Amino acid sequence: MLLPHHPELVERLRMPTPHDPWRVLVSGCLAAWRCGVDGSDNGLGGALEGFLASARDRVRLVPFCPEQHTLGTPRTTPDLHGGDGVDVLRGRARVRDEHGVDLTDAMIEGARAMVEVAREERIDLAILTDARGACGSQVVSLDCRFDVPRKHQRGVGVATAALLEAGVLVVSQRDFHTLARLRARLDPSFVVDPTLRDHHQHPWVLENLPGPHPRA
Ligand code: SF4
Repeated sequence: MLLPHHPELVERLRMPTPHDPWRVLVSGCLAAWRCGVDGSDNGLGGALEGFLASARDRVRLVPFCPEQHTLGTPRTTPDLHGGDGVDVLRGRARVRDEHGVDLTDAMIEGARAMVEVAREERIDLAILTDARGACGSQVVSLDCRFDVPRKHQRGVGVATAALLEAGVLVVSQRDFHTLARLRARLDPSFVVDPTLRDHHQHPWVLENLPGPHPRA
């Protein structure tokens, strides 16, 4: 699996052109779809503006929401219990909502549907919303996110796990360094700020979730 911080990720991508743009699968909420559990865009509708600023003609967004696909909107909140999304696909972990209802099958179905979209659209890479049970890629909740104290784990969501297994490159919207490197591929005049960090390099993650990403 190639994780967001994998050094090969950016270099592996072909050069996009206006006739053959990068086809980028994005979490629906990053494209301002009101597909969050509460019917909002999770406050993320403008999160990719910087990335897109230099080259809208060489990037085609393909939004999809794997949870909305099978669970509808609004819905209860799916979280990972007993592992991450790879563990769910392997039958070693489950997805439950805040009422304890098991949503595992629906989450896997939504993940498979997202992989289908990726295949049909011949996606070059995916930019997904981190810290969610489906779309997370660096950090996800462990058990119900409404528990006090809330617990987190390094790992991937169910849809991300399925995409990575299908060979799709995944970046999180919090991987600021990788997103800047992608932008520099689109616009050679764009200078990457070397102080930018990907999510796994954030001080909170380093302090609270030490150790390697289990899918690295
Ligand atoms: S499942 Fe993914 S696309 Fe849908 S609201 Fe959650 S983070 Fe956004």
